[in-house]
Amino acid sequence: MTVTKPHLAAAEAERPATQPASLVLSDIEAAAARIAGRVVRTPLVASPSLSRLCGHPIHLKLETRQPIGAFKLRGAMNAVLALDGDHSRRGLVTASTGNHGRAVAYAARELGLHATICMSALVPANKVEAIRSLGAEVRIVGRSQDDAQAEVERLVAEHGLAPIQPFDHPDVVAGQGTIGLELVEDMPDLACALIPLSGGGLAAGIAVAVKALRPSARIVGISMERGAAMAAALAAGHPVAMVEEETLADSLGGGIGLSNRVTFALCRDLLDEVVLLSETEIAAGIRHAARDEGEIVEGAGAVGIAALLAGKANPLGPTALIVSGRNIDEAVHRRIVSGAAA
Ligand SMILES: *Cc1c(COP(=O)(O)O)cnc(C)c1O
Repeated sequence: MTVTKPHLAAAEAERPATQPASLVLSDIEAAAARIAGRVVRTPLVASPSLSRLCGHPIHLKLETRQPIGAFKLRGAMNAVLALDGDHSRRGLVTASTGNHGRAVAYAARELGLHATICMSALVPANKVEAIRSLGAEVRIVGRSQDDAQAEVERLVAEHGLAPIQPFDHPDVVAGQGTIGLELVEDMPDLACALIPLSGGGLAAGIAVAVKALRPSARIVGISMERGAAMAAALAAGHPVAMVEEETLADSLGGGIGLSNRVTFALCRDLLDEVVLLSETEIAAGIRHAARDEGEIVEGAGAVGIAALLAGKANPLGPTALIVSGRNIDEAVHRRIVSGAAA
């Protein structure tokens, strides 16, 4: 029998929008059903060299094989498909210039929707072109990421466009979490997952799925030493402002939002450990990916490999590394792979 509790329902309704929102396995299963056929079910491949190094089976989850070269398509596609049709038909908008921007542009084109990507005049031409070539409208405003974000908010308020968040939204986290379902399916004896960590959508989503299905598996988040916003927030016990620094793991830059709703609490509750890497260690990861695995991987995508090479993550059983993206500047990649220091 269902007992209705009007006082609880009222309390729910009064919850301010900044209260944490949570996520469970069934949200991720729903996301998997929603995005099936619209994103790639990526391969999980063995790495003989890393397995030898660690003495345990090490597998690479190649999110580099998504059509935009990064996993962000999963979360963006799920978030867009979860919108009601009237809202999404007014158009999508975001301020990301990196893999999330590409993901929103790609999802819009696939679904016949219009996407506006706001960016500042300081964004390099190649990034602008990458987004434009996916069919999105690029709107250049101001000279900072904050100016671009302010334009997003204006377009949402004045024109009713649908904002698509890069990480701090339950539908985005659920989309990224579909990787966790695939990991457990392909690797039933999964003991450990090494996951690149920035805003925490990727790590939180995978952690929700894996901890529900394999409660004893360890979940390790990996960031760079330079400007690791989630690591700083977890250490402080609440989100903190961070100064962004240049790093080879540029897709891991940026803050987690001072009024973070979803990913901070999930990462706090579900991550077993956070590892930080130097630029030299990240460069070694990129180089190993190219030379020993035959994969072009960007800095953010190579941190799992880098952590194993540096001896900073000690897998105690079969381990999966999330190789999250491949979008790296060609000249930078060539310099690192040829052996020049970071
Ligand atoms: C965005 C991104 C990450 C980090 O994802 P979060 O959900 O922000 O933690 C890692 N790798 C790549 C390639 C990315 O684009």
